[in-house]
Amino acid sequence: MFYLYLYKDLPKKTECRTREDYAKHIFLSTEKNIPFDAKIKYKGKLYCGCCEQGIDGDFYLGVRAFEVKNICDIDTEYESEITCPACGHKLSESYEEDEDNDNFYCEQCGALFEYERQVTVEYVSKIIKLNEDFIEL
Ligand SMILES: [Zn+2]
Repeated sequence: MFYLYLYKDLPKKTECRTREDYAKHIFLSTEKNIPFDAKIKYKGKLYCGCCEQGIDGDFYLGVRAFEVKNICDIDTEYESEITCPACGHKLSESYEEDEDNDNFYCEQCGALFEYERQVTVEYVSKIIKLNEDFIEL
């Protein structure tokens, strides 16, 4: 059985969770096999999987809700992280992407989009030695 809960509703805990930890946060249970990175539509709302724990053959899948917005409402230019134009999800550690431009599947909503890395060059200066060779008049 797969049990879905909203990840943000689960209190933080350092030790392994038990069935009781999840019990009051579950909003859906299903016999369907749901992959960890699934995009889920339930009662008109969209969710993506963000963590999973198996306990005795059952799976507890933490999900977060998201919306696919009006594309014009999302800032995708000159952002510090690659930003999905469909849902606004920001990739963490975008600098680790190997290519300066590429096609990309959003890890949250699954949309395919392209990104282009914009590189800005900045300079830092530090004094080494002041000039003391002046012509005195
Ligand atoms: Zn997205």
